[in-house]
Amino acid sequence: MKTFSENDKVPRVLLFATTTGYQTRAFGDAADRLGVELVFATDRCHMLDDPWQDRAIPIRFYDEQASVDAILDAARTNPIDGVLVVGDRPTVIAARVAEALGLPGHPPAAAAIARNKRLLRERLRESGLPAPSFVVASLDADPRAVVRSVSFPAVIKPVALSGSRGVMRVDDPTGLRAAFARLGRLLQSADVLAERDAAHQVVLVEDFIPGRERAVEALMHHGDLHVLALFDKPDPLDGPFFEETIYVTPSSEPPEVQRAIGDAVRRAASAIGLRHGPIHAECRVNANGVFVLEVAARPIGGLCARALRFEEQVPLEELLLRHALGESPDRWRRESDASGVMMIPIPRRGIFRGISGVDAALAVDGVEVVEITAKTDQRLVPLPEGASYLGFIFARGESAAFVERALRAAHAALEFAVDPEWQVVQSHHG
Ligand code: ADP
Repeated sequence: MKTFSENDKVPRVLLFATTTGYQTRAFGDAADRLGVELVFATDRCHMLDDPWQDRAIPIRFYDEQASVDAILDAARTNPIDGVLVVGDRPTVIAARVAEALGLPGHPPAAAAIARNKRLLRERLRESGLPAPSFVVASLDADPRAVVRSVSFPAVIKPVALSGSRGVMRVDDPTGLRAAFARLGRLLQSADVLAERDAAHQVVLVEDFIPGRERAVEALMHHGDLHVLALFDKPDPLDGPFFEETIYVTPSSEPPEVQRAIGDAVRRAASAIGLRHGPIHAECRVNANGVFVLEVAARPIGGLCARALRFEEQVPLEELLLRHALGESPDRWRRESDASGVMMIPIPRRGIFRGISGVDAALAVDGVEVVEITAKTDQRLVPLPEGASYLGFIFARGESAAFVERALRAAHAALEFAVDPEWQVVQSHHG
């Protein structure tokens, strides 16, 4: 393995991270192995529990210009050789920084389109690529007018949230009116307002596209798309909410469909103008073709990245660092094992009291890691309002079917204690 420490100058990679946690640690480990210095740029709101506090450049994701200025300022004394971003919110800031420093990256305008579902839909439509037809409605629109312009079944969604938050299927006018009001309340909740994003003032209503859902993890290298992995999402995602559960790779799709998915993502990425850096795309495949629902200008989120490992046990984070420093992904191949992750759904709204059965889950053949990320006594909020999972299960094995069975068996072995919220109120007053 090539490391950079033999050179006289230690290369520095700037990593934009929404929160600290597993993925920032994984990047830290990979950077140590490679002899690369990592500099974090982190949203100030998350600084309190930042273990790298003195190494991070504090920025405010909502203030793009000031963030870019602060980073360029810091880069004058400590030059930066590569830029990486995890999470959706800082993708445009990262693209602007890369551009200003003359480093390869996605153009800022393309990153802005990829982060905004409305701009993305408009761009795909202009390019004539298969995409759901859609309408954009302001939060203060008359729901009756919105209903008149929609055909059913439809999907209503926010323009700039992620993780399926706020995404709802609606089958009739009554359902759409209720979902419109519900999404409006979510978009006006304190944590969404704190993002100060004008995109949260409108919602998108689009045709429901039936089909099998697939995810593509890829790297763009100076305009060329290199698929790193194609994931199947074997659970049906038909609504009313769209909680992601299982991702497994390799895909069960025949080679020609896999090629068609790669081509569709390549066309969508180039229509958006994405050029250099990680992308994560979600598609639906049916008899009418491949519909690209989303192309994000960032890698697969957080802990899920752990499901991706490459030849010689190289983790995704290491490849991303090497790519950020200019290496071509040409020869990078995923490991030969099948691999998968289950994002453990929140079973119901309430207060998380604990979990049992982890040992039994870990004893399931193929299961490698069970990581519970919810904290005891934390309030659990399911989709569509919620924004987190209970935890993650990872498995590897000889086939995707084996991995999927292992993940389901491990999940079945887990038992979650969730108290209704009123018990908390009672204990406070009782
Ligand atoms: P997010 O960026 O929050 O993940 P998406 O727009 O990708 O939001 O939607 C989340 C999920 O909702 C998708 O992965 C898919 O399962 C479902 N979904 C979204 N839009 C549609 C659609 N037009 N037709 C069918 N399913 C959809």
